[in-house]
Amino acid sequence: MQLSHICFADDLLVFCNGDVNSIRAFQKVLVDFGKVSGLHPNNVKNTIFFGSVPLDVKLKIVKILSFEVGQLPMQYLKVPLLAKRLGIGDCRSLIEKVNKKVKNWKNKKLSYAGRLQIVASVLSAMQVYWASVYMLPQGVIEEIDKTLKGFFYGTKIFLLKAKLKWLGSKNGREEIKWLTNEGKKVHFSTHQVWKDLRVSKPKVLWHHIVWFKFFEPKHAFILWLAILNRLSTQDRMQIWMPGSVFKCSLCDKVNDSIRHLFFECEYSKSIWMVMKGKLLFKGLPNQIDGIVDCLAKYPYNNKIWCTVNRIMLAACVYFVWNERNCRLFRIKKDLQMCSVQLLMGLFS
Ligand SMILES: [Zn+2]
Repeated sequence: MQLSHICFADDLLVFCNGDVNSIRAFQKVLVDFGKVSGLHPNNVKNTIFFGSVPLDVKLKIVKILSFEVGQLPMQYLKVPLLAKRLGIGDCRSLIEKVNKKVKNWKNKKLSYAGRLQIVASVLSAMQVYWASVYMLPQGVIEEIDKTLKGFFYGTKIFLLKAKLKWLGSKNGREEIKWLTNEGKKVHFSTHQVWKDLRVSKPKVLWHHIVWFKFFEPKHAFILWLAILNRLSTQDRMQIWMPGSVFKCSLCDKVNDSIRHLFFECEYSKSIWMVMKGKLLFKGLPNQIDGIVDCLAKYPYNNKIWCTVNRIMLAACVYFVWNERNCRLFRIKKDLQMCSVQLLMGLFS
């Protein structure tokens, strides 16, 4: 008979063969241990779990040990203990927990940086905890990923149900058809599904100013939000908090807005003028909407200045926004990135 055991802070898990002789030997170990240490097992707090043990043997074992009989799967330290490979069904509780947490957080009032922090520190941590014990099925990872992306971007997750038709088998293979918005049955393709599900808006002319071959992702992201007027500037915050008085943290004169920050504010304008002076394209305006309109007229090509203009604009917007936040949230001077100095250094 072989015994193997795992000790945790409060618990002892013992594994042995599911036969009467092994259990008798195990019981003798417990009794001998009790004689030496004075510690005896409390039967009410002990549970026995069986994996593929015949019923008659089970009954004999329960009679010998008098432990409570538990049912698999059971959870230990919040993860399921299983006698087989982990399936999607076993991870339902993890998926539900992540969904519940996501529903409880009101992401609309959080900045994108805040949402990212929650995704990284709270929501992903739940998945990582399980993944440290088990290899998670691909379907579970994808489903949690979809939920987290929805939380980050503030969108709802689509459920594709009614529109899918399975139309029986053709040459031994199942053929999937898709019902389009126009009511036509077509071959299933992700292109068609995307076309039917997305909310179509007119194509913007400025996309190549933000997204181009050499864009810096974090700069492009902030520029994209600035163009869409989706950054949490003080003029927008006043709508959520009526009666509050805000002052631009860069000039301390008026409340900030996209137009003010990029680049009507005397502080950010002085930076933009220096940066603009370094460009070949000196005729650029000083307000973001004007700059975007002006650049949008010229298609993106492989010429170096075409790329430099775009990199410069995105970097200016990013570093001004960063400096504004550092000052607004009073990040200690020695910890501060000195955003503007960094920007100047990049393009000197
Ligand atoms: Zn200002």
